[in-house]
Amino acid sequence: MSLKFTRHARIAIGIAIAVTALSAFAAQTCIIDNLRMIWTGDTVVEGGKILYVVECPQGHKALALSPN
Ligand SMILES: [Zn+2]
Repeated sequence: MSLKFTRHARIAIGIAIAVTALSAFAAQTCIIDNLRMIWTGDTVVEGGKILYVVECPQGHKALALSPN
């Protein structure tokens, strides 16, 4: 059994972890530096749900369930 993940799969896992972490808090703040995340204007569809790509002032990106 191969545990070799593609680059894309690793990114997807990272995003899934980020979404889980963001969902735990009412305010959207960066999980790395706790700065406020701002919607970049981009959206992605994951599992039939629209997720909003948000970014903190230091450039860390995550996905959020709402744009603000
Ligand atoms: Zn950050």
